[in-house]
Amino acid sequence: MGEETGNTDWVAIAARFGAEVVAPVAAGLDRRPNPEDCFSWEIVEAASVAGLRTATLSTEYGGAGINSLTTAMVVEELGKADLGVSVVIAQTLKIAQTLQAAASPEQRDRFLPQLANNPRFLLAIGITEPENASNYFLAYPEDFRTTAKRVDGGWVINGKKHFISNGNVASLYLLFAQTEPGKGLVEGSTCYLIPRPSQGFSIGRVHDKMGERLANNAELLFEDCFVPDENLLGVVGGGFDILTRFFPASNAYAASSVLGVASAAYQRSVDWTRTRFQGGAYLIEHDSVAADLARMRMLIDAARAYVHKAARAADLGGSDWDPTLGALPKVFASEVATEVTTTTLALHGGHGYMRELGIEKLVRDAAAFLHSDGANRTLLLKAARSIRAELPTNG
Ligand SMILES: Cc1cc2nc3c(=O)[nH]c(=O)nc-3n(C[C@H](O)[C@H](O)[C@H](O)COP(=O)(O)OP(=O)(O)OC[C@H]3O[C@@H](n4cnc5c(N)ncnc54)[C@H](O)[C@@H]3O)c2cc1C
Repeated sequence: MGEETGNTDWVAIAARFGAEVVAPVAAGLDRRPNPEDCFSWEIVEAASVAGLRTATLSTEYGGAGINSLTTAMVVEELGKADLGVSVVIAQTLKIAQTLQAAASPEQRDRFLPQLANNPRFLLAIGITEPENASNYFLAYPEDFRTTAKRVDGGWVINGKKHFISNGNVASLYLLFAQTEPGKGLVEGSTCYLIPRPSQGFSIGRVHDKMGERLANNAELLFEDCFVPDENLLGVVGGGFDILTRFFPASNAYAASSVLGVASAAYQRSVDWTRTRFQGGAYLIEHDSVAADLARMRMLIDAARAYVHKAARAADLGGSDWDPTLGALPKVFASEVATEVTTTTLALHGGHGYMRELGIEKLVRDAAAFLHSDGANRTLLLKAARSIRAELPTNG
């Protein structure tokens, strides 16, 4: 990863795309009652035309080969326009990076041209299931309920995943299933490539979410779904090796998406307080309000610096990588976004509570990443484990 093309300014492309294509329609899509109607294929197709959907794909396969740091910046720009759209694209960008790194040459040649050439080709990853969420982040010795059993020429998958981003709209899935019962989901699970449609694989509920509504999340249902051997990603029992080795920047992208929401809220606060006149002055001229703005700016800049450190370290790898960077930047960015959007709501007074200004959407959107990509408390515990692992053992 890291062979970026020429001098193309992907951050500027993402900013323009967000402002011109996404922002004008985001509020209207967000308000649709049926979650499936909030998702827009027009936006996905336009992102394909702009090159954003495939920007992490290597130039060999028709992408731009942008690195993780640039991807984080692109994802933040999209998040400024709408969190859901940022997530739809970010999922595809990060899973494409993993596919390129973890897939065999034959798998790359089979799947990556489809990803490059189909303007609606999106990617999804299915790990979470009703019984196992924090468990897999914390390596709790529990089996996935979704199982893969060996048969002649491949595997038969049964079970259910839920909460899966792009779940009902993706064309290809990275799916984690238990292959060695009793070994725990970290040591006993295997990753499979599941194209859609596949016999025995269907979509269940599309979740009705509080925010991030322009992205869809869905249940994945497997009933005797046959997966041929050639669709096994990595090795049997090595499912979590795929995540730890090839997903280092994932947490940074999640952080960037929600940081986009914080940045948008901050800008709304600046614009509002410069024009709202109360107490004989524009709000921005009252010291307590000005201090709020300075605090927002400080939190956002600090979160961005942290996220970029993680994305850069993910690109460089080796000793630059610190496992806490795979957990904590998202925790910090989502807490910052929660504070910044809530302060923005306060600065807008009653106007912020009325839906027409779109401030309440920012508050709802920011809340998504307190839970998505791992619940924050769970990620703090995950980071704490790697801190403990750094310490010398007693005696
Ligand atoms: C918008 C959204 C998008 C998502 N997209 C995807 C996706 O694309 N693919 C995917 O696989 N998953 C996805 N997820 C799942 C996500 O990664 C989280 O793992 C999941 O949301 C956690 O949900 P849960 O309610 O099951 O949490 P639980 O694991 O039940 O945790 C509930 C609470 O208990 C705490 N807790 C849990 N275990 C412990 C413990 N051992 N000690 C102390 N506290 C603990 C947690 O920190 C949390 O506060 C998504 C989730 C959301 C909300």
